[in-house]
Amino acid sequence: MISKEYGKYTLICDICGADSDEEYETFQDAADAGADIEWKRKKIDGGWVDVCPDCIE
Ligand SMILES: [Zn+2]
Repeated sequence: MISKEYGKYTLICDICGADSDEEYETFQDAADAGADIEWKRKKIDGGWVDVCPDCIE
């Protein structure tokens, strides 16, 4: 998921709960950055989930 905390967006893996250790100004920045660091966004049961590289298999 992309979570908003303290006015910043963070990437959190929906499988293991790890975060990306980065904060982003906008939702779109977080989504773009996730793609750059090889996180995957995928749609499961109509909702988007974010998956860290360790959990992509
Ligand atoms: Zn993970």
